[in-house]
Amino acid sequence: TVGEALSGEEAVELAKRHLVQPWPTAGEIGAEARSLIGEGEGIYITDGSGKKLIDGPAGMWCTNVGHRREELARVMYDQAMQLSYNTPWYTMNEASAVLAERIAGHAPGDLSHVFFTTGGSSAVESALRFMQFYNNVRGRTEKKLILSRGGAYHGSTYLSASLNGRPRDRDWMDGADDLVVKLSSPDPFRRPAGMSIAAFTDSLVAEFEETVKRIGADKIGAFVGEPVQASGGVIVPPENYLPRIRKICRDNDILYVSDEVVTAFGRLGHVFASEDVFGIDPDIITFAKGVTSGYFPLGGMIVSERLLQELRRSNHPSAMYAHGLTYSSHPVGCAVALKNLDLLEGGILAHARAVAPYFQAQLKTLEELPLVGEVRGVGLMACVECVADRDSKNPLELDRNVGMRIDAHCHELGLLVRPLINMCVMSPPLTITKEQIDDMVGILREGIS
Ligand code: PLP
Repeated sequence: TVGEALSGEEAVELAKRHLVQPWPTAGEIGAEARSLIGEGEGIYITDGSGKKLIDGPAGMWCTNVGHRREELARVMYDQAMQLSYNTPWYTMNEASAVLAERIAGHAPGDLSHVFFTTGGSSAVESALRFMQFYNNVRGRTEKKLILSRGGAYHGSTYLSASLNGRPRDRDWMDGADDLVVKLSSPDPFRRPAGMSIAAFTDSLVAEFEETVKRIGADKIGAFVGEPVQASGGVIVPPENYLPRIRKICRDNDILYVSDEVVTAFGRLGHVFASEDVFGIDPDIITFAKGVTSGYFPLGGMIVSERLLQELRRSNHPSAMYAHGLTYSSHPVGCAVALKNLDLLEGGILAHARAVAPYFQAQLKTLEELPLVGEVRGVGLMACVECVADRDSKNPLELDRNVGMRIDAHCHELGLLVRPLINMCVMSPPLTITKEQIDDMVGILREGIS
């Protein structure tokens, strides 16, 4: 491939000496030995020792159409040979315009325009900076607070990371805490004991309403929420909760930002899940990952026509949305995203919808295992949560991160798992077949046992 042909061990050694990898602990930073992945094909990847593994998390919820798609590789080559890059500051390229139109065509409500970024964090960051700009131009300079929730994950840039809800992600990092207000995670598994789902939903909506009332809608610019909290452990919200939050936002002139970085482009069997699965039409949708199935770093936000019109008609026509990335609207990324969308529309979305019930039902059988407190999910995303005991629902804590131990066992058996402390998240490529689901669940069962 690239550079010298190294053995698996040599590559890992080199990384230990020279690579800082994402999310390291202080004790291991710059000295970590992570599994080398050498190749991918379909739903499989191959590790440094040549072992073939099912790619359980599809990379990071992203390799939606699977690995080694020749048509995607070819379109990147062709685009790079035609035009590898152009400045988005004062020129544009055809692929980005065509892709924006295709994406807007799938987006709910009046979401009509796309701003492309390099990934999910920059998409969320762009949406938040857009909210600030929008309210500044409207003269609502106090309307800047952002509502977020426990269990949320929105990125690793300063402002997007400030929204993150899991304590572990925040404990050792600073953030823009004065700009963010945290609400409860809509997690039915951890609702107060004895409370019905309906009462739980009412309590979440009441908390939202009371927070808006207490702080004042004139101080709150946006709510940012994942339709399904992904990294938080695939938290599927109770029915009708999101539409009720959407209504409160609309009534209070609070922008609803639906963070679909994980859920868009097929994970739930649709291009976007906000409306098709959850019945909401946000003001802004953020996306990344599946837009190129991970073949190229690309993300973006889709903005409502109404908001753009308000800005165009404002009293400050020369005010500048001083925000843009060198790689906004990258032609190679946009070209591969177009081909990826062809594949999704050409049958993969329908396949994902068809196999999702089987995927969920087979994983659900793992609840028979004594360590497993709950298996939950929707579409082709699911979480197996291990608990100390089912009554307390306390997360299972062993000498080492339980998810990592399960991952290690499964790795030996031929499956890569995404370990999340006491949870294993499963979100394979959308092309997975029923037989491959059987293999995946069989290995997971044995690994957990
Ligand atoms: N938003 C959500 C919901 C995510 O799950 C992620 C990443 O996992 C992000 C934003 C950040 O995306 P990226 O890692 O591409 O910056």
